[in-house]
Amino acid sequence: MLSLLRLNKQMHKKIKDEINKDPLIIPRAEHGISRKDIDEPALKVLYRLHNAGYQACLVGGAVRDLLLGHHPKDFDVATDATPEQVSKLFRNCRLIGRRFRLAHIHFGRQIIEVATFRAPHGETHEEHHDTSGRILRDNVYGEIYDDVWRRDFTANALYYNIADFSVIDYVGGVKDIKDHRLRLIGDQETRYREDPVRMLRAIRFAAKLGFSIDEACKQAILKLGPLLADIPSARLFEEVLKLFHSGHAEESFFTLQQYDLLKYLFPDAVDGLSDANTHEFIRLAMHSTDNRVRLDKPVTPAFLFAALLWAPVKRQTELNQESGMPHAVALQKAAAKFISRQVQQVSIPRRFSSTMRDIWALQSRFRYRSGRRAYGVLHHPKFRAAYDFLCLRANAGDAEMEACQWWTELQEKTPEQQKKILSAAKTSPRKRRRKPRKKVPPQTGSTTLS
Ligand code: ATP
Ligand code: MG
Repeated sequence: MLSLLRLNKQMHKKIKDEINKDPLIIPRAEHGISRKDIDEPALKVLYRLHNAGYQACLVGGAVRDLLLGHHPKDFDVATDATPEQVSKLFRNCRLIGRRFRLAHIHFGRQIIEVATFRAPHGETHEEHHDTSGRILRDNVYGEIYDDVWRRDFTANALYYNIADFSVIDYVGGVKDIKDHRLRLIGDQETRYREDPVRMLRAIRFAAKLGFSIDEACKQAILKLGPLLADIPSARLFEEVLKLFHSGHAEESFFTLQQYDLLKYLFPDAVDGLSDANTHEFIRLAMHSTDNRVRLDKPVTPAFLFAALLWAPVKRQTELNQESGMPHAVALQKAAAKFISRQVQQVSIPRRFSSTMRDIWALQSRFRYRSGRRAYGVLHHPKFRAAYDFLCLRANAGDAEMEACQWWTELQEKTPEQQKKILSAAKTSPRKRRRKPRKKVPPQTGSTTLS
């Protein structure tokens, strides 16, 4: 164990050596970042910190995206002010996090995250890492130069300095962005061991930005993928959302497969993927999620999770039915089995797992075309998600296209017409036969009934 720790320590020294102490400073005239592309709240935060005498830089994905000419989805700020000093400057500030103490400055629904520059652990490395090399604590404040090494990829380690509008580059990130290359700072293995989620981040950035991952990085991911098993399932849920709800789900899904990481996130989904229909169905589900994100339509994680687990749930339902269970019970049992296995890897908050069950349960109910049951399907709160699910299945050859068409046409009708169609039923709603009430015997003191 000691030798492993010593090794980690040496590697960290190597990372520090790799970072150029004299950064490349790219002046305003030589880069494309303009203040008009930075959201107003982020500029406010940067200026207020700067005017109070602190260093203040835009950092991370925002700088990367601005250099690529994209509009960043969020703006992160790094400063030499401590979280407490930041909080004194902003009334709308909340301090969050234990392991990483951060300041969140709230502007309506937008949050600007402000992090204090952090230092490497240096001599006290052992105290900050567990035996597999994972970072345990990371709260030693430092200088901007110190802050660079703990970032993941060179493209994410650039600082846009509000003092003179320059970009500060210690690690060759600007060139890597130009070359569309994702390069981890320091030794691959050490950095992935420190935080295995970086492997998922690599996949996400490769898919989102179209950046290449070099061979050494790929090999490291193939080797270290199993470390994802130790990551808390709630953190993986957050990461999966970023992978699949940022408009690049389809590409991310294929990249995860290519790097053999899918099995650590959705172990029960992997086997089914060798079946062409299942594969196509999941691809379509990812594709349609991407379209919805691009059109700013709402998306729910329940839909993709339901799609990923559909094949095993369906198979298990059939098996349960073969052993004599009625369909509804068979499905319920299958759903419970696969959801409880799934949450061991990637957690699913209950509101989403209950929607998954609804989506699955409605699939067989689409066969009702009339009467109270069909009406119930149409007005089910999860009808729309379940209907989309059905049509994707039909497109992938897993359900009748006719069913998708029938329900599509029904929705195009007015509520009056829908009522007419559904009640023009041959199989009109079955009247429930009332059970004859049990007569309560008069309280005569005797318990025997004649
Ligand atoms: P996105 O466009 O998805 O927001 P991002 O690069 O901004 O991408 P964030 O998760 O917002 O990603 O993180 C902001 C920055 O914090 C990153 O650019 C990176 O410098 C650093 N960072 C975040 N997570 C990690 C991590 N697990 N390991 C190292 N650095 C990280
Ligand atoms: Mg970000």
